[in-house]
Amino acid sequence: SQRVKIKALLQSQQTEIDVTVKGWVRAFRSNRFIALNDGSTNNNIQIVVDFENTDPTLLKRITVGAALSVAGKLVASQGKGQTVEVIATDIEILGDSDPEKYPIQPKKHSLEFLRENAHLRFRTSTFGAIFRVRNSLAFAVHQFFQERGFVYLHTPVITASDAEGAGETFHVTNFDLDNIPKTDTGEIDFKQDFFGRPTNLTVSGQLEGELGAMALSDIYTFGPTFRAENSNTTRHLAEFWMIEPEVAFNDLVDNMDLAEDMLKYVIKYALEKNADDIEFLTQRLQEEEKQKPQNERQEMTLLEKLQFCLDHNFERLTYTEAIEILKESTPNKKKKFQYPVEGWGTDLQSEHERYLVEKHFKKPVILTDYPKEIKAFYMRQNDDGKTVRAMDILFPGIGEIVGGSQREERLDKLEQRMDEMGIPKDELWWYLDTRRFGACPHAGFGLGFERLVLFVTGMGNIRDVIPFPRFPKNAEF
Ligand code: ATP
Ligand code: MG
Ligand code: MG
Ligand code: MG
Repeated sequence: SQRVKIKALLQSQQTEIDVTVKGWVRAFRSNRFIALNDGSTNNNIQIVVDFENTDPTLLKRITVGAALSVAGKLVASQGKGQTVEVIATDIEILGDSDPEKYPIQPKKHSLEFLRENAHLRFRTSTFGAIFRVRNSLAFAVHQFFQERGFVYLHTPVITASDAEGAGETFHVTNFDLDNIPKTDTGEIDFKQDFFGRPTNLTVSGQLEGELGAMALSDIYTFGPTFRAENSNTTRHLAEFWMIEPEVAFNDLVDNMDLAEDMLKYVIKYALEKNADDIEFLTQRLQEEEKQKPQNERQEMTLLEKLQFCLDHNFERLTYTEAIEILKESTPNKKKKFQYPVEGWGTDLQSEHERYLVEKHFKKPVILTDYPKEIKAFYMRQNDDGKTVRAMDILFPGIGEIVGGSQREERLDKLEQRMDEMGIPKDELWWYLDTRRFGACPHAGFGLGFERLVLFVTGMGNIRDVIPFPRFPKNAEF
């Protein structure tokens, strides 16, 4: 069939031509028009139906949600806000949709309702826009790295390492759960399991990524990541996608530059490629803002926020400098931080991160040189003996979006740190080989893809920017 996408039709310079469009009914207008959508854009094509001369039984089946194939003539439209429409000559119902039972109605549904109907929410304008923007961002990530000669290295989903020893892993096994083999001493006998040892879903591809970088120089991985942590927040999922570049010969400053360049590149790409969707999401957010009291409204629209991010250098400062700022601050006259900033050495809470970004600097911030106690074992130690070459990038409305570091390439320092932190060196012998043979300075970071999508779409809950969210007690579809 000669299906033309609705987005292309709406931009057509030619009229008075025969076309076939296929899509789903989004709405009717005054019993004479159908608003048809095929997901290529949020704009519907208007189908003009000759009401009098159409079989009434067919007309009755044109309900919201029904799938149609429409043949007709593309003509210039007199209607407001549209340049073309289709005068239908032949309408075929491909799939009925019972209007009594169909949950998605041509009205504004709450995000909570749509989350409960996540299998159908793709059919709304909001989620159409979100997932098209998500798609563009993913494509732009690859384009950014490919243009710079990075190798896309697929790191494993099933691993034996839990990168940071945080114990937030999902176990992988093919044991019959009713009959788990035990050793003589009553422990689970993993020797009999599929891989002959305990395994889990990856929490980060970094350690494997470093192996690649130590030969290919510039690599990135971009895949699903799993953490069995408390994901009952608006910023955590049990399954999320992470982008992790790892670059040989880079130091912390190179690492910050790479991350900032990349974030700006992909945001710019989406702004151009998905101008109409981002405009739609901006409008949507403005409507929401109007419901709030004046003093709680955002100062910038979504579009302005994204543009602002492109136009300004991210603020770069050390953790130590940030603590000084936070100690002297209260978020506003009445309210203190929920978690008081005790002083040097404690990890920042997201309220602190957001304060720095949203109130103090009013732009994205890169914090560096964190206390080694609150960071992973593989980060390069500074000469002060107290801090490591870590960097976190903090975004307005989000908090941490990127976590990265220059890596500890010195074998003795790395082993010493692993001992201090109780990380078994024998299990990571393969990782330590990178420090034994041709070790070199290198750096990398992890960007939480959904947090990026949150920022670019202006949505407030991470569950709304991934097609099939995974969080505690939720994995039905
Ligand atoms: P947070 O402090 O927000 O829990 P983290 O420091 O534990 O994040 P990292 O281990 O540094 O996370 O992972 C790198 C990036 O992956 C984070 O900066 C964030 O963007 C993203 N990320 C981490 N955990 C999750 C999660 N559960 N769901 C979605 N994204 C996540
Ligand atoms: Mg975490
Ligand atoms: Mg963190
Ligand atoms: Mg982190």
